[in-house]
Amino acid sequence: MLAQSGFRVTLLEQASQLSETGAGIQLSPNATRILIALGLGERLRADVFVPEAVAIKTASGGRLARIPLGDEAERRYSAPYWAIHRGDLQAALLEAVQANPDIVLRLGTKVEDFVEHANGLSVACRQGAIAADEHGIALIGADGLWSVLRSRLKHPAPEFRQRTAWRALIPADTVEEEFRAPEVQLWLGRNAHLVHYPVKGGTLINIVAIVNDKWAEPGWNTEGKREELLAHFSPWSWCLPAREFLAVPGHWLKWALYDLPPLNVLGHGPVTLMGDAAHPMLPFLAQGAAMAIEDAAVLADSLARTPDDPAAAMRRYERARRKRTAQVQQAARSNGRVYHLGAAEAVLRNLFLRLAGGKMLLRRYNWLYDWRTVPPGSIARPGALPRPQAGDE
Ligand SMILES: Cc1cc2nc3c(=O)[nH]c(=O)nc-3n(C[C@H](O)[C@H](O)[C@H](O)COP(=O)(O)OP(=O)(O)OC[C@H]3O[C@@H](n4cnc5c(N)ncnc54)[C@H](O)[C@@H]3O)c2cc1C
Repeated sequence: MLAQSGFRVTLLEQASQLSETGAGIQLSPNATRILIALGLGERLRADVFVPEAVAIKTASGGRLARIPLGDEAERRYSAPYWAIHRGDLQAALLEAVQANPDIVLRLGTKVEDFVEHANGLSVACRQGAIAADEHGIALIGADGLWSVLRSRLKHPAPEFRQRTAWRALIPADTVEEEFRAPEVQLWLGRNAHLVHYPVKGGTLINIVAIVNDKWAEPGWNTEGKREELLAHFSPWSWCLPAREFLAVPGHWLKWALYDLPPLNVLGHGPVTLMGDAAHPMLPFLAQGAAMAIEDAAVLADSLARTPDDPAAAMRRYERARRKRTAQVQQAARSNGRVYHLGAAEAVLRNLFLRLAGGKMLLRRYNWLYDWRTVPPGSIARPGALPRPQAGDE
């Protein structure tokens, strides 16, 4: 987006090679609208899976609600709801980066620090043992949950939220038909919930199981033991098909879940943060990557408005994003509580879900999915973009 606005961009990535993360991701209309405006629509459409609905169930298998997605979401929000394998999304973004001569990607380059000058800044990087400094007019910390730049800006570290996410990806033909349905399925139980949906054209099923847990180790690649996971899905409350489904993957990865209360002032001078570095959130609204994508659109637009004053552009971007990202962080946390209720509270929740019905439940997310901004691509391709929406900026 920055390159489309006429900036030259250097991407500094610590990983020495870009490998496929073996997991799926949901992309809601607020994010797909931006990716499509960026020109990635056709490329991504080849790889995405379009879920027809979110089917909400109890741990015992009872149906609570069916929130329509598919055509209904696309009609309502003028943008689709997609599920995609993270590797496919990464590949599409990488191709776009490589096709643009104004973007340089430096792999194996770890950012360690920065220093501001009167007219720009220097970034201290390391490629293995070798120092490899970079210089520019602005610096955007998109370095994720454990952001070095966030701590360099003296913000607090993320806080553990007593939940662990377990992830697995399995061939669709290894599970019963119920688990292959073209839906996002959300199963709610006491102190645990389960989400699964097809990716890779329906040939793989992405599974995320979230449990209350005290295990707080940071990182993304801890192997999880199937028996340990199944202990959180007791036969007293979870039906046999769900437990049998959870027993299929031979390989689980688990990670502890963190977030951070909203930060008051994000950056300093021509430096800012975006995505999980700026507003890490719990995954219970499937919005972390979507917020990073929205950030990118707003940030590029802001820099394009005052290219000679990056510091002013950064503060404008931060002001534009604070309320919305705080609201999404809060809503994700609230879902985390509601999903894991037990006893009488769960009965009330289930009653509400049954009575509300799918369409009403979808309408409750209009504020989230119907968000629009004016990505800088609109400058290059007039008419390609959706209408701006008042309120967030
Ligand atoms: C279980 C689970 C399910 C989720 N499901 C969804 C979903 O369905 N939809 C959704 O929108 N979101 C989802 N999310 C959230 C989403 O994965 C994150 O919010 C998103 O990946 C954040 O993107 P990011 O670019 O800010 O950070 P990251 O994806 O963490 O990327 C940060 C990058 O910075 C690099 N880096 C870090 N430090 C340095 C350094 N010092 N120097 C150079 N490079 C560095 C890293 O190598 C990495 O490539 C989910 C999260 C979890 C845990």
